Amino acid sequence: MSEYLQLLDATMAHLENLRIHGVRSVSVSPETLRLLVPTARKSSTEPLPSSKTGAGPRPSGGIGSVDLSVPMPSKPVPLVTAAPRSAAAAARWNSAVQASPSGASSALAALPPPLPGPARAAAFAALQSKVLACEKCPHLVKSRKSVVFGVGHLHARILFVGEAPGADEDEQGEPFVGRAGELLTKIIQAMGLSRSEVYIANILKCRPDTPGQTSGNRKPTPVEIATCIPWLQEQINLIQPGVMVALGVSAMEGLLGKMEVNISRQRGSWTSYRGIPLMPTYHPAYLLRNQSLSEKRKVWEDMLLVMEKAGLPISEKQRGFFLSK
Ligand code: URA
Repeated sequence: MSEYLQLLDATMAHLENLRIHGVRSVSVSPETLRLLVPTARKSSTEPLPSSKTGAGPRPSGGIGSVDLSVPMPSKPVPLVTAAPRSAAAAARWNSAVQASPSGASSALAALPPPLPGPARAAAFAALQSKVLACEKCPHLVKSRKSVVFGVGHLHARILFVGEAPGADEDEQGEPFVGRAGELLTKIIQAMGLSRSEVYIANILKCRPDTPGQTSGNRKPTPVEIATCIPWLQEQINLIQPGVMVALGVSAMEGLLGKMEVNISRQRGSWTSYRGIPLMPTYHPAYLLRNQSLSEKRKVWEDMLLVMEKAGLPISEKQRGFFLSK
């Protein structure tokens, strides 16, 4: 797939994400619209592809749907599908469309009615096969060893959301199985649970590639997040957890569609994802880098709040974990 089509898909996925979140219009500044002007259209008189022209193949590059000959709207306009022409333009596009006046969490769309056990299992299996066959990000398809769908209970009360698979997860096809994963598993066990009683998933289902590097991870790009997030939304629609935990900045950014997350300020305070209480906390990888008792205690206090919200029993011993003696 060309970069153009990939970006087009990502933009449409992002707009769909906003629509799911209840956003009905987006504000696009004249400056942003100018950035989105396609380069390959030789003149403004060359016809744009029209949905009315029907079923032919999609154009392979350089064509957009923004016509600057029309006056720039100064008010929010209905959801549009203008195509960014580069990754940088796509990022600017992402931030521009996120500035919706109705984009606050109060506008999040409600979850669909929960599916009963067997129907849920069937829908989950169907979703899993679609995700495992996903080829929306050709660069990640090329570099990945596995698509890391998620793991845990389909009726989990608690859903943990991470960023993206790392090398170990890519190797094994399961989220949080490397060093950070071992720490997450210990946290879950300290809460009196096992991995099979909660659900664990990531914002991105494929490991972000690192061309030219033999090791290390990179943060998912806004385009990758916008492309992949519908899969997680479908997982959440099916699981309908009572409580969610966002592990780190990327998880918060992906879930809330915002790019200005300050995790040290936001952790420990409840927010909401489509009506589900959402607790932001530090990513376990952060705790591996900062092993102080005080940082561990902060994450643990967040987990105590999660346990209370989920109605889990909490012993005095658990309340005292990571307190200095
Ligand atoms: N970090 C994440 O965010 N997710 C994983 O699955 C592994 C490491």
